[in-house]
Amino acid sequence: MVDHRKLGRELGIFHSDPLSGAGLPIWLPDGAAARHAVEEYIRELERRAGYQHVYSPPLGRRDLFELSGHLGHFIDDMFPPLRMGDDELILRPALCPHHCLVYAARGRSYRDLPLRIAEIGGMYRSERSGVLGGLTRVRAISLNDSHNFCALEQVGAEVADVLRLTSEAHAALGVRPAGYRLSLRGPGVSYVGDDESWRRGEQLLREALSGLPYEEAPGDAAFYGPKIDIQVRDAAGRESTLSTVQIDFDKPERFDLSYADRDGGRRRPVLVHRSLVGSMERLFAYLIEVHAGAFPFWFAPVQVEVLPIVADQLPAAEAFARSAVEAGLRVRVQSDGSLGARIRDSAKRKVPYAAVIGAREAADGLVALRSRDGRALDPLPVAVVLRRLTEAVASRSPALLS
Ligand SMILES: [Zn+2]
Repeated sequence: MVDHRKLGRELGIFHSDPLSGAGLPIWLPDGAAARHAVEEYIRELERRAGYQHVYSPPLGRRDLFELSGHLGHFIDDMFPPLRMGDDELILRPALCPHHCLVYAARGRSYRDLPLRIAEIGGMYRSERSGVLGGLTRVRAISLNDSHNFCALEQVGAEVADVLRLTSEAHAALGVRPAGYRLSLRGPGVSYVGDDESWRRGEQLLREALSGLPYEEAPGDAAFYGPKIDIQVRDAAGRESTLSTVQIDFDKPERFDLSYADRDGGRRRPVLVHRSLVGSMERLFAYLIEVHAGAFPFWFAPVQVEVLPIVADQLPAAEAFARSAVEAGLRVRVQSDGSLGARIRDSAKRKVPYAAVIGAREAADGLVALRSRDGRALDPLPVAVVLRRLTEAVASRSPALLS
């Protein structure tokens, strides 16, 4: 059984240091490179689906979280406020309050809807130190989040669209789907909003799920509305949640959000909270384990390791590496040690390809790729190799070249 904490350290993905603090991991260069590729992909997927991206600060005034209801219903999971003169600042436990302010920053009409405000943004949870570890239980979270403000009649299609985008992102990342869960209200928990809104929200989610396999989970709803959890299966076959979509009638009310409808009347939008892949921390804990460190080529930290057979071929190896970097690939040259040892080491670190450059390759401008699963590909001209590799990144193909 692969443990992402051990493998994450071996592969240089992240680092935990008692001086930084429990649950506050640091992303190392290789982890940051892979995360950067994944974030770029997610933003591009969202951009094509009509999302608009924003940046908002990870803390805000106490009043903001009083208005949003977080202080009343979520305070146990929040850090204590920071005093600043007469003001109190709070590390945010969610991005919704700021995104409601984005909506309210100007007048809105029905033509703006659905208005999809997206951000991979920082938020904080005061998890107890006993439960912290690796990337799964952390206090600083980078969430792939969006708040989609819709007219009521748009909500069903919007939720169905989120489920479709989630499946697409999961397929590209190699996430294994395990069905859907409809999370509803349960006894003993404090919720906001009236019964009628909850019933309507549940009904809309059931409609979006029609034809899909799902089970119900009473008591697992967010404090402001019902949600769909998109379940995934980990390397050991266990189920967990990465992605959610939630319906919220409460925050538009609290923030007094409205839009001008066709007839000129003011209407209240419905807020759909959604995350396609969850937080970057949980996502990478999952990806490290499910791929046993062998990430798909398109987001592997180092995609190609360039190996000159002897020192004579070092200039040709460096020239190839420069062209590959220019083509947008992540590449490293390794010239120390025997070729066999370098190939084995590169495969052990799960680098998708070793590019071997010997006398013949250097003289003829060729590159011979070896994949991490031990296959040797025929030598090909540099330009052809670069084209095949950049095409593999663009298509996000899970398979290596053959
Ligand atoms: Zn939200």
